[in-house]
Amino acid sequence: MRELGHELISLEEARETMLSLIGTIGTETCATPEAFGRVLRQAVEARDLIPPFDNSAMDGYAVHAADLAAASGENPVTLPVAFRLQAGEVAEGPLAAGSAVRIMTGAPLPPGAEAVVPHELTEFTDTEVTFSDPIEAGRNVRPAGGDMKPGDVPLGPGAVLGPSQLGIAATLGYAELEVSRRPRVAILSPGDELVDIGEQPGPGKIRNSNACSLRASVIDSGCEPIDLGIIPDNKPAIREAISEAIERGADAFVSTGGASAGDFDFIKDVISEDAEAAHVFKVAMKPGKPQVFGLFDGRPFFGLPGNPAAAIVSFEVFVRPGLRKLQGCSRILPELFEVRFPFEQRYKPGRVFLLRTRVEPAADGGYEVVRPGEQDSSFLASLARANAIVVLPPEGGPVPEGATRPAFWMGGAGR
Ligand code: AMP
Ligand code: MG
Repeated sequence: MRELGHELISLEEARETMLSLIGTIGTETCATPEAFGRVLRQAVEARDLIPPFDNSAMDGYAVHAADLAAASGENPVTLPVAFRLQAGEVAEGPLAAGSAVRIMTGAPLPPGAEAVVPHELTEFTDTEVTFSDPIEAGRNVRPAGGDMKPGDVPLGPGAVLGPSQLGIAATLGYAELEVSRRPRVAILSPGDELVDIGEQPGPGKIRNSNACSLRASVIDSGCEPIDLGIIPDNKPAIREAISEAIERGADAFVSTGGASAGDFDFIKDVISEDAEAAHVFKVAMKPGKPQVFGLFDGRPFFGLPGNPAAAIVSFEVFVRPGLRKLQGCSRILPELFEVRFPFEQRYKPGRVFLLRTRVEPAADGGYEVVRPGEQDSSFLASLARANAIVVLPPEGGPVPEGATRPAFWMGGAGR
């Protein structure tokens, strides 16, 4: 056996190489209500004051502050109610001194009114309202432009459009947004041992679970999956699948298996022979050592290892950042946070160990590792409750009890 250790490259170096080769996909116009999860490719700028007018933050009574200056429990002040204002209405005239207006949340303050007393702090009839406290000007008033002013740019290219970002675009009057086209990602499952998941596997066969995991990961990365199904372990079949993917408009490709040094690992060969900027990596990580990468007409091909846990982890560390880069996201790499080990964690040094585990809030703050379970790269069951990947560095011994290490959330729902 040839010792391959000296050929290992770090996870960061492999990822940097891949990311440096990935460009940015084109844009399209999308109706703002339909743009959830898309990546913004324009600036969203305020063109008006938001809110557009001074308005009431409460259901209550709009007043001149001076009228309540002497109000107290012993000497309450009673004012006539001049009129009533609902959200959407505008006062016909200013608020006369010595009177109050019954006003609802969001209604424009009548000219002259300076503050709003919530109705629960008053006693009122239809025609009169009594106050027992003074109030300072500006209280319970939302000033025009308090949220945003013309020229403010709350969102820029690279923002991922979630509920908050879409609300901002909507309130600023952007009915359409320039966003990244949703990349189509072809999923290839080479393997003569594979059968479709609805089938009973015959002797020596297993179900194609990776395509199902990958499909979810692709959707979770804001992309559209094209599942090319099971592909026989030979080069012509793989080449045909890649051509079919290109015909079907694939912007990127992900395969599992066939990436390492076995006699039937043809993904590695096809990418090396056909792709531009092809790389066959041995990455100093566990799971996920064999990784293949290349470009077809500028479109990235990620050849992940076949073991199911290795495929899922590899997607998180290479493919998800790659698809973010492709979509022009401003944030590409996973965000790390520290998690504490309430026990000693042993692992084999030499390669970064990516521990798949459940992470939960600890009683004394922060996050804590909970029952990591079996870490074999071909086992899936222990991933059922895993919500994070903890990064254990290649150098150094076991993680001592109580120590922290960086982690990132795994994709998908059900944290
Ligand atoms: P390979 O790299 O092709 O030798 O695959 C490594 C391991 O992953 C083998 O045990 C394969 O049976 C398994 N494997 C490959 N592709 C899949 C798949 N699509 N679903 C589940 N297991 C797979
Ligand atoms: Mg195989």
